[in-house]
Amino acid sequence: MILPIWFKIIMSIFLFFLGASVYSFLNVVIFRVPRGEEFVKTRSHCPGCGKLLSPMELVPVVSYVCLGGKCKDCGSKIGIRDVLIETFGGLNCIASFWISFSPMQGISQSLCEVWVGDFYGHFLTWLAMFAMVGALTVICFIQIDMGVVKNGTLIALLVICVIAVFAMPEVDLSERLIGALCLSIFVAIGTLISSKKIPFGLAIATALVGLAIGWMPMLVVALPATIVAAIVQLAFLAIQKKKPAGKHFKLSFALWVGLWVAILFGNMITTFLYGAF
Ligand SMILES: [Zn+2]
Repeated sequence: MILPIWFKIIMSIFLFFLGASVYSFLNVVIFRVPRGEEFVKTRSHCPGCGKLLSPMELVPVVSYVCLGGKCKDCGSKIGIRDVLIETFGGLNCIASFWISFSPMQGISQSLCEVWVGDFYGHFLTWLAMFAMVGALTVICFIQIDMGVVKNGTLIALLVICVIAVFAMPEVDLSERLIGALCLSIFVAIGTLISSKKIPFGLAIATALVGLAIGWMPMLVVALPATIVAAIVQLAFLAIQKKKPAGKHFKLSFALWVGLWVAILFGNMITTFLYGAF
């Protein structure tokens, strides 16, 4: 049985808002954790006038578009980055869901068959993929904002990576150990060269992801993706010459791009390349 298209569309819309809502919360975490603020009990407020946001103003992406990117009361601008992260979260949720539940590596099964066959395994894979990218988003953006990696976020990533190990038992231990080292070693070297301007925590985060997904996606996908993202970023900075010193080159953003591409599409890309050569 193949799922009808309308079901896929409705499911995707639901997944988008689920992902965007989770990432909306992660934005709060990114903002509050490095400032030592509590992030669960207090509802979001306008950074301009301090007014608590009503539930209608908290709908991810939609509220931003409806309000024209401004606070309803004081008119101060709401940062576009938060909305981009929410949108990314929604798309990440859709992508990781359909990837985890779709027949991969040439097995021609419909979604329903996969679903019934090993729901638990696929569900866990989806959860692990989605959560791993989420934790990375928090780690990398706190680093971009404040230049630090918080231990609590690394512990969260560790827990998620352990779940990912159970979700993807097909990767064996040696593949995982090589995966843990092959990219993180460069980040660790970066820490030394930059005299700790690049925090060592980023190397640990990279190693944890490698441990979860194995060396193939890390070496074949994460490494080149990180390099490409870094080059694009440098080119971008070169164009914006008018903005001096303030904007430093952020390795963590390039790393974030590289790792999420590897987590979400690593298996697909390596399988495709394996078939091509
Ligand atoms: Zn306001």
